[in-house]
Amino acid sequence: MAGGVIRFDAAAHKVADVLLPWFVNGTLKGEELDFVQRHVDECPRCQHEVAWLRELQPRGARRWWPWATAAQFAVIIALGTLLLSGPEAPALYRTLGASNAAAPTTGTLVVVFESATTEAEVRRILRSAGARIVDGPTQANAYVLDVPSGQTERAAQAIRGERAAVLVERLGLQSTR
Ligand SMILES: [Zn+2]
Repeated sequence: MAGGVIRFDAAAHKVADVLLPWFVNGTLKGEELDFVQRHVDECPRCQHEVAWLRELQPRGARRWWPWATAAQFAVIIALGTLLLSGPEAPALYRTLGASNAAAPTTGTLVVVFESATTEAEVRRILRSAGARIVDGPTQANAYVLDVPSGQTERAAQAIRGERAAVLVERLGLQSTR
């Protein structure tokens, strides 16, 4: 369905957007480089972002994500792989489509926790953020979360404030209502 294609592209954009600082500073390689290059070629928003990042080079580029060390970078790549081409992609993809249809007013977040994070800790973090697990954990310790309408940003910020959270991304599945 056409709607599914749009959501898929939105996920690709999220992942590419995260990787742009490394794309610009020339440290992306192999599949990641190919993926980002392909996406940027057809995404005006990312092209704009790349131009902006190039102006900030070399010192500003990584300031966005000061916690994103090389090790965590691998996790981000893993999430990208899950969203785009990994063996679990169909499940995650189905989840995103389904949550949009069943509850159009809820926000959706993708969160990746450090692999050492305990389940109890994950539950505590999600409860304090008012988030509910829709799917996960995946192999990369990624969760898809539902949060009540209008609280997506607050929940995302609460989770970002946790050391255990490696990546917090809104999946802006804007309903057309
Ligand atoms: Zn893009």
